Amino acid sequence: MSVVMKSAIVGALACQRNSFTLDRFNTLVVSCEAKKDKRGKTEGYEIELQDTILFPEGGGQPSDSGSLKIVERNNDSLVIKKVVVSHVSRSGLHAKHHVNELIEPGTTVEITVDAVKRMDYMQQHTGQHLLSAILKRKYEVDTVSWSMGGIITEKRAVLEPSDYFNYIELSRKLTEDEVTEISGEVNELIITFPQKIKVVERFSEDDADTINTSKIPDDYDLSKGILRTIHIGDIDSNACCGTHLKSTFQIGSILILSNQSAVRGSNSRLYFMCGKRVSDYAKLANKILLDSKILLSCSETQMPDKITRQGKQLQQSNKREQYWVKKLAHSVSEDLKNTLENSENKRAYFMEEECGTLELLQQIYKEINIFLKEGCEVYEIILCGYERQTSTGSLIILSESGDKISSLTAKLGSMLQNLKGGGGKKGGKWQGKITSISNAEFAAVTDYLSHDFISH
Ligand SMILES: [Zn+2]
Repeated sequence: MSVVMKSAIVGALACQRNSFTLDRFNTLVVSCEAKKDKRGKTEGYEIELQDTILFPEGGGQPSDSGSLKIVERNNDSLVIKKVVVSHVSRSGLHAKHHVNELIEPGTTVEITVDAVKRMDYMQQHTGQHLLSAILKRKYEVDTVSWSMGGIITEKRAVLEPSDYFNYIELSRKLTEDEVTEISGEVNELIITFPQKIKVVERFSEDDADTINTSKIPDDYDLSKGILRTIHIGDIDSNACCGTHLKSTFQIGSILILSNQSAVRGSNSRLYFMCGKRVSDYAKLANKILLDSKILLSCSETQMPDKITRQGKQLQQSNKREQYWVKKLAHSVSEDLKNTLENSENKRAYFMEEECGTLELLQQIYKEINIFLKEGCEVYEIILCGYERQTSTGSLIILSESGDKISSLTAKLGSMLQNLKGGGGKKGGKWQGKITSISNAEFAAVTDYLSHDFISH
């Protein structure tokens, strides 16, 4: 006789009935279907269980992850296998567990939830209910939507501290005083006057009249499903399918930022975080503050002033550097002109061995180019810059002839392994970078320029 196994529907899953059952939950595999990629290749399996303590995504709360423990008989011994559930998705009224291996229907599995993650999600989620409720009650401000932060995805594997904030989109921006007041009130409802949280199940659509069901997804069939309402003391009641805490006390604390961002006209995003996340964020932020304090050699409160001052100083230094670069470039180009005028083979070079930046070489080129265009028919000029600090360099070769440029780049290229550049095929300017120079290479180039280049 075959037994048709049924599974609990989303709305009445064990995780929704008791959000604090986080392990040692035994159930049966009802079905296991292969997931196919575009080419028809199997890329994992979707498992439906008789019931589950792993919450599928919904209500703004991301899916749980966890594992399934299976006890298998191998000859005479028992082998314990652990199958990772990467996430759980919702398909209509069904919860689909995503795993990497096939588990036969009928197999008994023991579920464990990633409890730290779930507790974090519940603190953010329940915190959002409370914050939205107080905003509505106190200021008549509606929560249009909300988004949970701190979720690592394939696209975003590393999170910035600010990514840990959740936000609620409000119908208007709050003032700084309102944020202070709200923070005080919500924290008071967490610590001083904690409120009980009760979840009520309603089994028929008729009961839904008094409850706002607009946020229930379209593909959730309410006539077959279950409407869940979350009550926070007598402060708030809201339809929601997520997992929640039992008391606002378990939220721990809430951090709300006064700086908001404007969205969709006059709407505003209010950033907040709850629970353990607040102290984790404080630790992260403190590490950054501490590192910056050491780098800047000042106290935390002095940092903004010091950075502003250093920015201004840097601007002044840059201006001064530009001034000296121009001055030096002018003087170098005068020397190069003299050399060209007084030499028979019309060759000249410039070499800077300490701070030879490309910017300096380009400035020299700008200065000398006017002279070259006006009255110099034949010429070969090499501008070579070496930056000792980084062991890198720059090179500009100028000539009226593309052939001369190409033979000079070949010659210098034979001495400099990491020379790359281009231009000047029909004469004019060739420009290149040397990404790394050894002492021997530098000596060879210096030798070539000071002896061979001039005298031949
Ligand atoms: Zn909820």
